[in-house]
Amino acid sequence: MDERDCIFCKIARGELDAEVVHDEDEVLAFKDINGRAPVHVLVIPRQHVASLEEVTSLPERVARRLFEVSSEVAAKLGVGESGYAVRINNGPDAGQEIFHLHLHVLGGESIGMP
Ligand code: AMP
Ligand code: ZN
Repeated sequence: MDERDCIFCKIARGELDAEVVHDEDEVLAFKDINGRAPVHVLVIPRQHVASLEEVTSLPERVARRLFEVSSEVAAKLGVGESGYAVRINNGPDAGQEIFHLHLHVLGGESIGMP
């Protein structure tokens, strides 16, 4: 899938609505449309990167910002101290559905390992 048809690229370009919780030049965070925890946010680079196998195409500062923004969003949504999980589904066995790299930030209840 290329950037024209990618749902998360469309959200990043403002062509598709999302409940944005953090917006900056290179990174965006928005609520998961099918939230599976009281807090369930997706943090994405604006640049289209399909999976971790392509992460080298992201500038280092952007890769770092994905983690910083995950922490900032967790604090903003009130789970910074109670704790949260940051998860990347990568490839078929992980059930990756959207091939634009994203970090799930999950919190507000006990988040177990599968
Ligand atoms: P995965 O690729 O397995 O990490 O999952 C993709 C996630 O994107 C799922 O949790 C979906 O609920 C979520 N999702 C799909 N479409 C949208 C959308 N338009 N806005 C927000 N979240 C979405
Ligand atoms: Zn994309």
